[in-house]
Amino acid sequence: MLICGAGAPGLTLALLLSKTGLNLSIVIIDPAPERVLLNAEADTRTVALMRGSAEILKAAGAWDACAAQGGRLETLQIIDDSRPGHDTIAVPFRADEIGQELFGINMPNNPLRAALTGKALQTKNIRLITEMELLSYEPDDFGITAQTSGGAICAKLIVGADGRNSAVRQCAGIDAWERDYGQNAITCFIEHAKPHNGTSTEFHRPGGPFALVPLPGNSSSVVWTEKRDDAARLMKLRKNEFERALQECTNDLLGAIKLIKGPQSFPLIALKARRLTAPRMALAAEAAHVLHPLGAQGLNLSLRDVEALAAIIADAAELGLDYGSRAILNRYESRRRADVGSRLAVIDTLNRMVSNDAGALKTLRRAGLKAVGSVPFLKDFVMQQGMAPDIRSGIKMQ
Ligand SMILES: Cc1cc2nc3c(=O)[nH]c(=O)nc-3n(C[C@H](O)[C@H](O)[C@H](O)COP(=O)(O)OP(=O)(O)OC[C@H]3O[C@@H](n4cnc5c(N)ncnc54)[C@H](O)[C@@H]3O)c2cc1C
Repeated sequence: MLICGAGAPGLTLALLLSKTGLNLSIVIIDPAPERVLLNAEADTRTVALMRGSAEILKAAGAWDACAAQGGRLETLQIIDDSRPGHDTIAVPFRADEIGQELFGINMPNNPLRAALTGKALQTKNIRLITEMELLSYEPDDFGITAQTSGGAICAKLIVGADGRNSAVRQCAGIDAWERDYGQNAITCFIEHAKPHNGTSTEFHRPGGPFALVPLPGNSSSVVWTEKRDDAARLMKLRKNEFERALQECTNDLLGAIKLIKGPQSFPLIALKARRLTAPRMALAAEAAHVLHPLGAQGLNLSLRDVEALAAIIADAAELGLDYGSRAILNRYESRRRADVGSRLAVIDTLNRMVSNDAGALKTLRRAGLKAVGSVPFLKDFVMQQGMAPDIRSGIKMQ
């Protein structure tokens, strides 16, 4: 099988398949050099990985190598700060309210990818080829022939885990619905005087959500959404001016703030491929769906894609079936459609509500948040929905 893209989802798929004992031959290609994939030094991007994702990474054998660098997420707090001069509304959601110790771990991106790459390089039936990109592929009845920058590769199935501009998706002729939010996410790492106590805080502000997510010790990662022009202006500030702007956004929640890394800025879009499969091809992760970072769902959803795909391929291979056949790919398409569609719709709606300055919507949003905070069964329902895939799987986290 050929996997295009050695991001966390592509590497996790390769590792999960290598552990099935079926001796599948797995080739994974990526244009990045090996030293980049193995670079474990954190930049400014982190992913809040919920409990189910941690279990998938444990099953892939990569969790122990990176978990210590993550921050524990014990409480998720939403603060509505959208009406300057009015009281803020704060609603905390504690993991122990739904009988869990943690919601998850906030993990820097690079150490996670480096741990997965290290494992893949040590695994006998995975061949990781770096500095090689997919140019095109052609399916036939028995498999695909891929043209890459390093020559042709034949396989029974090609998996596109090659990011939002997926060459695999384009070669398959699959259209994607896309929305440009006109916003950027500014990311950075900070140190702060007061402890975060395992609390991730999302401020709902006029320009968009602003999140402080715990890292070990008195440090946090920041995901600051602003309209594109405002983000460009913030990126031009001097370090001390940027620190002052951060301080204002946090309402002094964490005391004095020092900028440690960054800032970096990323344009925000939503994208959904019209189909997840084509003859002899499956899409996963951002090749299939891109979400706004609000709610921290993107990689969690992607890991669920590759977990499902690995299980479906392994079941077929164990029975001696052709795992690249239409019948097997249909199982993947139908298993993932609802989760992908519903997460994307919820996050898209939430972002458009949170980032909207219209007075009536602001009032409605504040009333909704107040209701969730004060009606116990409503709060419980919201938490159960947010954690639903993890709770269903009955996962325990160490
Ligand atoms: C600011 C921000 C914060 C976020 N926070 C969270 C969070 O808290 N929780 C969460 O779950 N998600 C979060 N996300 C989303 C998460 O980062 C992404 O879902 C995830 O990184 C995407 O992984 P991917 O492998 O699909 O894509 P990528 O990371 O883009 O990887 C794609 C890989 O494919 C390779 N590639 C490209 N073209 C080719 C080709 N032609 N042939 C072969 N390989 C190719 C690339 O080199 C790359 O290595 C966040 C996103 C942003 C922008």
